[in-house]
Amino acid sequence: MADRDGFIWYDGKLVPWRDATTHVLTHSLHYGLAVFEGVRAYKTVSGTAIFRLKEHTDRLFNSAHIYRMPMPYDKATLIEAHKEVVRSNKLESCYLRPIAFYGSEKMGVSPRGAATHVSIAAWPWGAYLGEEGMEKGIRVKTSSYSRHHVNVNMARAKFAGTYANSILANMEATEDGYDEALLLDVDGFVAEGAGENLFVIKDGVIYEPEIASALMGITRNTVITLAAELGYQVIAKRLTRDDIYIADEAFFTGTAAEVTPIRELDNRTIGAGSRGPITQKIQSLFFDVVNGKVPAHKDWLSYI
Ligand code: PMP
Repeated sequence: MADRDGFIWYDGKLVPWRDATTHVLTHSLHYGLAVFEGVRAYKTVSGTAIFRLKEHTDRLFNSAHIYRMPMPYDKATLIEAHKEVVRSNKLESCYLRPIAFYGSEKMGVSPRGAATHVSIAAWPWGAYLGEEGMEKGIRVKTSSYSRHHVNVNMARAKFAGTYANSILANMEATEDGYDEALLLDVDGFVAEGAGENLFVIKDGVIYEPEIASALMGITRNTVITLAAELGYQVIAKRLTRDDIYIADEAFFTGTAAEVTPIRELDNRTIGAGSRGPITQKIQSLFFDVVNGKVPAHKDWLSYI
């Protein structure tokens, strides 16, 4: 990823891609505290636009607030910086990765005395769980690793350290031949995917796990809004893994994963074992919205 052309916004200016480096004694590299976002820009019918940039920026600042990380730039500056990155790299659609991290000014667990640095990179990134998965659904395995207890890591923050848990789960599942991992919370109830929120559908009603130890996904929020507009009820409740075994349909949501149907969990077929009809309706509306084809949701698009 480091050796390519293009520009990365780094501490207030655009720098050539290869020069966007940091020292090996970067505090965040050692202690895992960096807050970040995953954001997508789409080539809409009216030009390239970043999807729900305000909400991603709000979540980035909330993550920093939770971890008491001072942010050296205001939201308006970072919102403009995202657009600048897409423009300067001449990208029509892309994934964006803003990150705020502590630098190499000091070592030791406390970050006091270290400066916050911010960078934003962007690059083309297709379907995270594969094009085929988008159509036919993916195979998921319940992880032997639990999602963090709410008093171990702060689930409302999207921060680097939490992803060590996601990495363990994702590697375990993918090395066993599955596409993604599903994590349960410490009480054994369904939490989320390694990088996605989950929805299941039973008898025409959409359910999601209570968002305790899971990230408050922005795609999740988009899907809840769209599902309501399509006339579906969305109920948050404690879900067990076997609630999913006997569901009619299931899907993951995430900025990277978008709306990805799940066809199998732990070698049990879910419903008909393919993308279900309600999932398909929501997925199709989701792509219409991000591609700027739904006037009512143009306010979610920040044109560059
Ligand atoms: N849960 C986790 C652990 C994630 O990493 C992500 C991706 N950011 C999500 C859920 C989905 O969040 P969003 O829809 O905001 O991308």
